[in-house]
Parts: sequence; C-alpha cells; structure tokens
Amino acid sequence: MDRRRFLQSSIAAGVSAALPASQAFAAFQALTQVTGDVRAVTGEGREISLEQAAVQELVDSLRGNLLMPGNPGYDVARRVLNASIDRHPALIVQPTGVADIQNAVTFARERRLLLAVKCGGHSFAGKSTCDGGMQIDLSLFRHARIDPQSRTAYVAGGSLLAALDHEAMAHGLVTPAGTVSHTGVGGLSTAGGFGRISRRFGLTLDNIKGVDIVTADGNLVRASGEENPELYWGVRGGGGNFGIVTSFRYALHPMQRQVIGGEVVFPLDRARDLIRFYADFSVQAPDDLYIDFYVNATASGQGSGAGFHICYSGPENKAEAVLAPVRKLGEPAFTNLGPVDYVAIQRSWDYTDFRNIGEYMKSGFVNEYPDNMLDAAISGFEADPGRNTMLYFQQSGGAIGRVPVAATAFPHRNALAAMMVLASWPLDTDGSRHIDYLRDYWSTIEPRTDGFYTVDVANEAQQYVNNNYQGNFPRLLKVKKQYDPDNLFRLNANIAPA
Ligand SMILES: Cc1cc2nc3c(=O)[nH]c(=O)nc-3n(C[C@H](O)[C@H](O)[C@H](O)COP(=O)(O)OP(=O)(O)OC[C@H]3O[C@@H](n4cnc5c(N)ncnc54)[C@H](O)[C@@H]3O)c2cc1C
Repeated sequence: MDRRRFLQSSIAAGVSAALPASQAFAAFQALTQVTGDVRAVTGEGREISLEQAAVQELVDSLRGNLLMPGNPGYDVARRVLNASIDRHPALIVQPTGVADIQNAVTFARERRLLLAVKCGGHSFAGKSTCDGGMQIDLSLFRHARIDPQSRTAYVAGGSLLAALDHEAMAHGLVTPAGTVSHTGVGGLSTAGGFGRISRRFGLTLDNIKGVDIVTADGNLVRASGEENPELYWGVRGGGGNFGIVTSFRYALHPMQRQVIGGEVVFPLDRARDLIRFYADFSVQAPDDLYIDFYVNATASGQGSGAGFHICYSGPENKAEAVLAPVRKLGEPAFTNLGPVDYVAIQRSWDYTDFRNIGEYMKSGFVNEYPDNMLDAAISGFEADPGRNTMLYFQQSGGAIGRVPVAATAFPHRNALAAMMVLASWPLDTDGSRHIDYLRDYWSTIEPRTDGFYTVDVANEAQQYVNNNYQGNFPRLLKVKKQYDPDNLFRLNANIAPA
C-alpha cells in the first residue's frame, strides 16, 4: 500500500470510530480495494485483462466511487429503468466532478474499453449500461443553478429534469423538458426533448445555449455558437456520440406557474373515433396547447381506456375556447383536467414503484395521419391479460417545426408526433410473445412513419441509424471523426467514424 492509501485508510479508520455508521461508510466507500486483475471487454468486443495496479490507480485518481461486482451500490448503479435489461459492467465509475469524468474517459480510451454513460437511466434499449465494459454513472453529479438575470440554467450533466423544472420555476422561468421528471438531462437534451411546452419554446435541445463536454481525448471542451460551433451543432441531436456533457446551459423563458392540464379518458371502444378526432384537432392546435393521444389496455383491464393528456399553458381566458372541442367529445370515464401547478404536472407521471417489469417499445415519427395508418394503429391494438399494451402519440409541431432542419443535428422537424407502441409485463413471466406481438403490430404501422427518435435505437443496422440522421448525417460524421475518431462513445444511435 502506498503512502497516500495508507494515510487515507488510517484517516478513514479514525473517522469511522468517531462517526455514526452511515457517515463512516460514506467516507470509506471511495477506497475500493482492487484485489486482482479485472477481466473486461473492448468496444469491439475483445476480451482483455486490466492490470490490478492500473485499476487501483484509477480508484486513487477519483474523488467519487469506483464500483466492481460485489461492491455496495454496484447493482443499483448498473441497472436502468427498463428492468428487463440486466447487464454487468466490469467497472462503474461514479464521478463527483469533471476531473473524475476526465480520468475515467482517459482510462477507458487508453484501453479501448466498451463505455456506457448513464444519466437518468431511461434508455429503453439499455444503452447506458453494458456487459464487461466501463459504465460512467453520473448519479452523483447532479446540480441545477439558475441565473434569473440572464435567464440561463446551468445544469450538471448527471441531473434529472426535476431539478431543472423545480429550480427554474422558482424564478417564474421554464425551459421545455420531457414529461417524466426522473428522466436525465443527458440523454434527453442531446437527442431531442419533447414535452408539455415544446410546441411553445422548441425542443430541449433548441434551448441549449452551450455545453461543457469531456470529449474522447479526455479534454474538457466548451461548445457554443462562438466556441467549437460544429461540436455545438452536433451535440444538439447527435446524442452521446461526441463525449460526456458535464454542464448544459439552457435558455429560460418566463411562464406562469399555473397551467391547465390532466387526462381526459374514455372507454376503450371509443379509440377508433378518438384517433380520428386527434388527427384533425391536434394539427390545428395553437402552440400553447399540448395534446397527446393514447390507447391503454392494462393486464387486468382496470384503468384501461383511450384518451388525451393535455397541458394548456396559454392565456387563462382563452382556455375554454381552445379546449371546447375536447369537452364536446362527451362525458369521459375519467378526467382530472383543470388548473395545475406546472412543476406538479411535470412530476405527475413519475414512477414511485420499483420497475419490476420488462418493457419493449417501437416508435417512429409521423408527418401525416393517413387513414390506413390510423386504421392499422387501432386494428392491430390487442389487449392481453399477460401485459399492459399502449399506443401513444406524443405531439410535436409548433415551435419545434419552425427550426430549420440544418440548424441543429436533429432533423425530424416536420413530424406531427412521435408515435410509440409499448408492451410491459411482469419480469418473472416470459416476455418473448409480447415482443413478437409488438414487432408484428409495428410492422403494419412503420411504413407510414418517417425515421425514429434516436433515443429509442436498439441494435438496428448501421445504415438504418445513418439514414435516420437524414441530410445531417455527413456533417455529423465529420464532427464524430474530429472528436471521437476511435468511437469510444458508441453506445448510442451511433455515428460510426470508420
Ligand atoms: C418513462 C420515460 C418517459 C420519457 N419521456 C420522454 C419525453 O417526454 N420526451 C422526450 O423527449 N423523451 C422522453 N423519453 C425518452 C428519453 O428522452 C430518453 O430515453 C433519454 O435517452 C433519457 O435520458 P437519460 O439520461 O435518462 O438516459 P440514460 O439511459 O441515462 O442515457 C441515454 C444515453 O444518453 C447519453 N447520455 C446520458 N448522459 C449524457 C451526458 N451527460 N452527456 C452526453 N450523453 C449522455 C448516453 O449516450 C446514453 O447512452 C422518455 C423515456 C422514458 C423511459
């Protein structure tokens, strides 16, 4: 044991005698002892051995944690929201600051390690965890600071949306974010960011003024309209392809705290007429109305229905006129549509249970609502007592569609909605038949879609992923070659540099 580790251990031992157990544990946790060489895999899938001394040096270089199988916290860190993803990284680094991120990235690059980056862990496909590589889990790297004068939010790259919404609204300010507040800023802001006020203020990525990002060479780079503008362009839609964003700077907009929001739900047998209503009504909606349509069949049948999720953030005296067509649809089976605090509605879909379910999803953007697509969406929808089944349209348009396609790397500006079909089932049951069903169902709809939201990419063929970036792909490829020529950041909608 070198002098530094000896001193650290002695101090830790002294401290642990004086502190309650929980605090003593926190002081001790960073001192992971590496007991031997570590088997790992490279990004190309080659098995390698990491020398004990090198891994120990990495541990010693961190202020945050390095976790290995068996360490307390390892099983929580490696997991993502989709509980059917069960992967085991060889090493998990939990940085507490930028220097830790730089050290971890440098270690991974020098050994060509498979590298996963986890912020909120919402990646459906499980891109933020891995088998045998290194996971950088940003859950100890969370912070949001608001500067009301310049209307800017400074948000650490591991933060969840909840912090951004909560802190900004304390100043009567907002930036558009997703609809579930424990989603991470890292994955959502670099890929898109559709939410309840995006039709007014654009996607989350349209509101990024600049980022600090640790690129594959381990350097901390500032990217904005003035500094490294190509990287700035690429980060806004290129997902995690270029590095780890350590700080987002978001533009903020004044907005009232109270909006009108909630659900309006009808019995399942209304699904066919409601989807047609949605196709007509949603495309004419003003920017300050956000309306999603869904059909939801639960395993038990309880709570099943077809309906709308609404958030109206415009002038109060216009609300009833804007919402009148929805009110005219008849008496709903359930509704809670009414005045609601914006931060509360942003949290209203958060999960409070442990996700003991497997999930599978297919999705794509829709630029129009042809009859045959609407028919296919309803005809192919099957309730099943073994799963929850959902068809969902998340509305786009408004300000999102007024940004030129080449202004950011995100190309899907013509979309009216992001359409999704999802199945979820208890983890202790076989999900394969639900996955088969969903694939068949989606195959009848997919021809009417135009690309997909990159956050949903599973293991699709490279050409399919490239095509999805549409005309922005060649420029993205140039940025990738400049900032990540060896494809260290590959667990994403990957832009393969070779
Ligand atoms: C329940 C649920 C609700 C959702 N609702 C919405 C919604 O309303 N609107 C919407 O637009 N999307 C929504 N999504 C999709 C969501 O935006 C993506 O899943 C997104 O990737 C989640 O980000 P995350 O940080 O939580 O994910 P993670 O799984 O932690 O990360 C996903 C990927 O993001 C990249 N990444 C993470 N952190 C960073 C960082 N700091 N710097 C660079 N790259 C990073 C990595 O490549 C990683 O593989 C939802 C997803 C779920 C599961």
